[in-house]
Amino acid sequence: MAIPVKITGQPASAGFAHGPVHLAHQGHRVYLAKPTPEAEVQALELAVEAAAASVAAAMSDLSGDAADILEFQLAMLEDGSFTASAAEMIGSGATAFEAWKAVLEAEIASYKASGDPYFTARSADLSDIRETVLSALAGDDEATIPPGVIHVDRDIAPSRFLAHDWSKGGGLALRDGSAASHVAMLARARGVPMIVGIGDCAVHDGADALLDAQSGELLVAPDPAQLAAFDGRRSASDRRLRDAELQAAEPAITMDGEKVEVLVNIADPADVGRISIGTVDGVGLMRTEFLFAGERGLPDEETQFAAYRKVLDWAQGKPVTIRTIDAGGDKPVEGYTVAEDNSFLGLRGIRLSLAKPEIFRVQIRALLRAASLGALKVMLPMVSVPREIVEAQSLFADEAAGLARQGIAHAMPEIGIMVEVPSVAITPERFAKAGFFSIGSNDLTQYVLAASRDNSRLGGLGSTDDPAVMALIAKVAGFGQSEGIEISLCGDAASDPDMTALLLKAGLRRLSVAPARVGLVKAAVRQWAMGA
Ligand code: PEP
Ligand code: MG
Repeated sequence: MAIPVKITGQPASAGFAHGPVHLAHQGHRVYLAKPTPEAEVQALELAVEAAAASVAAAMSDLSGDAADILEFQLAMLEDGSFTASAAEMIGSGATAFEAWKAVLEAEIASYKASGDPYFTARSADLSDIRETVLSALAGDDEATIPPGVIHVDRDIAPSRFLAHDWSKGGGLALRDGSAASHVAMLARARGVPMIVGIGDCAVHDGADALLDAQSGELLVAPDPAQLAAFDGRRSASDRRLRDAELQAAEPAITMDGEKVEVLVNIADPADVGRISIGTVDGVGLMRTEFLFAGERGLPDEETQFAAYRKVLDWAQGKPVTIRTIDAGGDKPVEGYTVAEDNSFLGLRGIRLSLAKPEIFRVQIRALLRAASLGALKVMLPMVSVPREIVEAQSLFADEAAGLARQGIAHAMPEIGIMVEVPSVAITPERFAKAGFFSIGSNDLTQYVLAASRDNSRLGGLGSTDDPAVMALIAKVAGFGQSEGIEISLCGDAASDPDMTALLLKAGLRRLSVAPARVGLVKAAVRQWAMGA
C-alpha cells in the first residue's frame, strides 16, 4: 500500500477536492514521421487549423478578459509566421513535431528574456499554443484535463483553466503560480479550489489525492483515517456554503444589529450574468484593466461606455464603483504600460493615467456619460499624493464641459480613491478631497511588508492580518467614521470569511468581495458582535 504524502503549498482559492492526480504534460504520443517534407508541412497546417478551431470554439462562450486571452492565441495561430518558420526547418529535415516545438520554444525563450512583464505573461499563452498543436500532431487525446481530477502543473494558462468544465469538481495544485495571479482570481470568482507553490515534489499521475485549499495542502495516497477527517472537513464546509447561499439574499446584520454592506468585485462585465443583484449592495470594485488587455488595442469610448452601461443596467440603481484603469505592476497592457525594472513601484494606476492623458480622457468621457444612467462612482487606483486627485478631478471637469458643449448626456460621478499605498493610510486627512476611500488590502499589504504579491516563495509573509497592516486599516476606518467619509475594503481579505471578524473589529462596515464568497462573508458578519 502506498504511503501517504503530505505536500504543502499556499491557498489561492479555498475549497476541497478529492480525485486522481492529473500530471500536466505527460508527454505526447510518439509522432509518426511522414514520408515527405510536403506531407510534414501539410500535417502541420492541419494541426494548426485544428488548434485554431478548438480555440475559436472555446472563445464562443466567453467574453471580456477570458475571451481576450484566447483571442491572442487565435491571432498567433492564424498569423502563419510560426508555421512558415517551422516549414523552413522541415525543409532542412526536421519533422513537423520537432520543427513546431523548436520554433515555439525559441519564441517563448525570447518572450521570457525580454524582461517586459507583458511578454513574460504572454509566454504562458505561447506554451499553451505549443502544446495544443503538438497534441493535434501526435493525435493525443489528453490535451484537455479530465473532469474531477486534481491537476498538477507548473502553472496554468488562463485559457486552459477557462476551457475546462469545473462544475464536475476537481482542483489545481501548482508547483509555481501565485495567489495573486490572473488564474487565481478566476478560480476564486468561480469557486475552484487551488493551491500554489507546491514546488518540485514527486507525485504520481493517477494517485488518489485530497486537495484542501483551505489550509493549502495536497495529501497523496491518504489512509482511511485521513480520508475520513478530510470528508468531515469537506462536509462541514459544504454545509456552511449551502446554508450561507440560502441566506445570501438576506442583509448582513451583526449580532448586535449593525448592518454591514456587502458589495461585489467584478472584472469582466459578463461576470454579472452569474450574480443575482438581490444578494449584494452594489459593485464595490469593477476592475477595468481587463477591458484594456485585448488584442484589438485600447478600447474606444463606445466600447467602454457599453461595458459600463451593462453593469449599471444590471445593478438596478444600486451603486456601481468603477475603477479607472489600474494597469502596470502585475497587470501589463500592450501599447500602454511601460517596461520597468521594479514595476510595482513604477508607472502604474493613476500615475500612468495622468502620464497619458489622451488615453485617460477617453475613459473619463465614457464614465461621465455612463454616470447619467445610474449610481456610478469612480475610483482612482494607486493614489499616493493628494495632487493626483486634484489633477484627475480637473480632467473630469474639463471633459464634462466638453460633453456639455456638445449637448451629450452626462453627469459628474462621485470620485473616490483606493487606499493601497501606505502614504494614504498613514495620513488619510491629506486626501479628504476624495469622495470615498476603498482599501486595497492586496497592494497595501505588499507595500507595508515589502513582500511582492506575486511571489509564492515568500510564503505567509504578505498577509493582511499582519498587525502593521491591520493597524493602518483601523486607522483609515476610524478616520472615515470621525469625518463622515465612506470607507470600504475591496482587496482579497474582504472575501475571506476568516478575516471578517478582524475587519469588522477594525471598524469597517462595507466590504466588497469575490462573487463566490458573498454568502460566506455575510454568514460570518451575522456571527460577529462588538466585544465578542
Ligand atoms: C488591491 O490592491 O487590494 C486591489 C483591490 O486592487 P488589485 O488587486 O486589482 O490591485
Ligand atoms: Mg491594487
